Amino acid sequence: MAPPAPSPAITATDLDAHWMGFTANRAFKSAPRLLASAKGMYYTTADGRPILDGVAGLWCVNAGHGREAITQAIAKSAATLDYAPAGFQLGHPAAFALADKLTALMPRKLERVFFTNSGSESVDTALKIALAYWQAAGETQRVRFVGRLRGYHGVGFGGMSVGGIEANRKAFGAQLLPHADHLPQTHGIAANKFSRGQPAAGGDLADALEEIVAKRGGETIAAVIVEPVAGSAGVLVPPKGYLERLRALCDKYGILLIFDEVITGFGRLGASFAIEYFGVTPDLVTMAKGLTNGAVPMGAVMMRKEIYDRVINAAQAGIEFMHGYTYGGHPLACAAGLASLEIHRSEKLADRARAMAPYFEQAVHSLRDHPHVVDVRNVGLMAGIELESRADKVGARAMEAYLDCFREGLLIRVTGDIIALSPPLIIEKGQIDEIVAKLGAALKRVA
Ligand code: PLP
Repeated sequence: MAPPAPSPAITATDLDAHWMGFTANRAFKSAPRLLASAKGMYYTTADGRPILDGVAGLWCVNAGHGREAITQAIAKSAATLDYAPAGFQLGHPAAFALADKLTALMPRKLERVFFTNSGSESVDTALKIALAYWQAAGETQRVRFVGRLRGYHGVGFGGMSVGGIEANRKAFGAQLLPHADHLPQTHGIAANKFSRGQPAAGGDLADALEEIVAKRGGETIAAVIVEPVAGSAGVLVPPKGYLERLRALCDKYGILLIFDEVITGFGRLGASFAIEYFGVTPDLVTMAKGLTNGAVPMGAVMMRKEIYDRVINAAQAGIEFMHGYTYGGHPLACAAGLASLEIHRSEKLADRARAMAPYFEQAVHSLRDHPHVVDVRNVGLMAGIELESRADKVGARAMEAYLDCFREGLLIRVTGDIIALSPPLIIEKGQIDEIVAKLGAALKRVA
């Protein structure tokens, strides 16, 4: 593909108006990184340089960039039905069709779908469904949530409260949801360093739920929410047995279990969802990102039929659940979702990811002897490479590696001093080699 014509020069003033989220605005605006187009495994910058996408945009472009079938489906939908609510007493066929297709990807228990526009909205929706369920079930004292340290569940007030990333909260000063406790994080066990797949030690960390139950009373807890693999905090793979124990404890105390699969869904681990990969089924699951291949914002919450039935049947005639978004189930998003799921099916992307995972694992672990690498871990097509922090500044070394990689034509993602990789599932072996070569060179340069 020919690189696009360079965009007209952008001056610093042109960048002033846009307050960019999760960005060092001052640094960015003094040296912007602007992406102009994307195809397959590559972005092209505004000045015409190819950038190999090592992170599927932001963990979302799982089928690769610029998929014709998705583009055409969106265009067709825009020309036919630009907007219709999928709620608020109206519907349109594509939302029902997409919901139906999603249920086919899930274990038979997770049969109902609520559409949102993002991962954050999916999380807040799932928490509200859990609360509504217990109200409907007559257990009105179940109002507490349990998240996990280093968990990321988006930026809504609910998601921030159950999330376990302190930095995301401290700027706001306010008390968030009053009833949130946190399990310990599952990482940092010395014996687990340089794990391949699930680490051996730490399955018993799930037992910390017993302590929260002892303190708060199991009958007051509405739900436990965890990412099956914590993504944003730096790819923390659950120790063997951990998710199974969490499921068993939730069952023991009648607590709903929510898996936040915003990152792990849609083939990332080499299975349609982490639910399938780990063989543990939650009561609710949140998703977004890969659902539309990132092409149109969309999220969803799926749940056991019994949860839906309970909330619906407990209500008086009329609206049963006072919740919904103007754009939830937007026709363009549904069109993109249907086209995207069809690509996943016809190209067997999850199988492809599973087949490529051993090569990817071998490649990322070859970085272990590079300067300042203190850990490498991976599962499916997802890897974390942790660097020793500089004494004076946490995150500086990884950020320098990020900038170096971008200059050299590779997009990675960093959080603190952890580098995350999550390439599109269409990646070829040669491109894995390119990622590792460029990242390896960057690590040497920023040593
Ligand atoms: N949950 C998880 C596990 C995520 O990784 C993310 C985003 O990365 C979110 C929720 C929030 O999604 P969004 O940014 O679409 O609101």
